[in-house]
Amino acid sequence: MMENWKTRTKLVHAGIKRSQFGELSEALFLTQGFAYDTAEQAEARFIQNSSDEYIYGRYGNPTVRMFEERMIAIEGAEDAFATATGMAAVSGALFCMLKNGDHIISSKALFGSCMFVVDDILRRWGIEVTLVEGTDLNQWRDAMQSNTKVCFLESISNPTLEVCDIAGVADIAHAGGAKLVVDNVFATPLFQQTLKLGADVVIYSATKHIDGQGRCLGGIVLGSKEYIQDIFIPFNKHTGPAMSPFNAWVMLKGLETISLRCEAQAENAKKIVNALKNNIKINRILYPTDESHPQYDLAISQMTKGGTVVSFEVNGGKDAAFRFLNALKIITISNNLGDAKSLVTHPVTTTHKNMDPDMRNSAGISDGFIRLSVGLEDPEDLILDLMEALQKI
Ligand SMILES: *Cc1c(COP(=O)(O)O)cnc(C)c1O
Repeated sequence: MMENWKTRTKLVHAGIKRSQFGELSEALFLTQGFAYDTAEQAEARFIQNSSDEYIYGRYGNPTVRMFEERMIAIEGAEDAFATATGMAAVSGALFCMLKNGDHIISSKALFGSCMFVVDDILRRWGIEVTLVEGTDLNQWRDAMQSNTKVCFLESISNPTLEVCDIAGVADIAHAGGAKLVVDNVFATPLFQQTLKLGADVVIYSATKHIDGQGRCLGGIVLGSKEYIQDIFIPFNKHTGPAMSPFNAWVMLKGLETISLRCEAQAENAKKIVNALKNNIKINRILYPTDESHPQYDLAISQMTKGGTVVSFEVNGGKDAAFRFLNALKIITISNNLGDAKSLVTHPVTTTHKNMDPDMRNSAGISDGFIRLSVGLEDPEDLILDLMEALQKI
């Protein structure tokens, strides 16, 4: 039955399991442990460990499982494991697949903490790392080695909104016996069906659009049953990144409205791009499904919408960027994204402060670069706020 439901129906109903009370809203099982009627029952649970029987909160929880099953249904995955944060998902997914002497290829255009995990922690543990221009398939192909186990990328990327050819990288990875892991946060589960494009593992920071209202941290890793059960869980049930049941409950509620929110935010984003496009205070504007984007054709072929983030560069470097940020009245300065509230960030002085300056410049993150996470406000108010602030430059 559920397999035939459309996404919006799944977002509201998939994964729900009711207790004997028949509660309408998803129940919050705020418990660390589980009680057994007999010693034999305890013994049996530790042997079987079926997905409906729980033994300890670090291994699983009924509310967390409802969130996982709703995400499994939306993503078309076989299985999933929810984590405390997006970074617990990224690091847990990579650590469990790699050992000393293995090789990983990663796109350079990564979220700052993802870059630290790949370029610092993995190297420290004796894993070979090759960073490539994610948009150039030849670089992925040339970087493949006999010990390459993982290819890792973010598409669309933060904050430059680069689009990688997911099917193309998946083919290259698979030809060499490696797995493709994709951080799909910016594209959201709605606008890019990453597993269908060929990725083996997909990761979300649920902190962003899945909560979408600025409350809880969370993450999730989705993939095949074999990957989740035999590779991810054995490593991660002992290292301990489990999601809190309370946060899972908030995320379940977030999923009920994510489609309405992200559709409206993406519509707002498009209107903002059109309004700012020819503004003389702006050097360039980036949005994946706008014709001016360098990977526009690829973006429209693998995404249904361009996402909720718009990036642009103002004329006049850091001074101009700061004057612009400080003049905004509705749009709030914050390094978060995917929120109902529109948020604006100056990456060079915040999220990408620790990135090597040469690498930052070659990635196009200049002193005038601004990342705007578009919220749910009325687009006319947002455009007016942006226009008036641009006047202050
Ligand atoms: C925010 C973010 C993360 C990390 O998520 P947290 O929930 O903050 O740990 C990872 N990748 C991307 C692309 C992000 O935007």
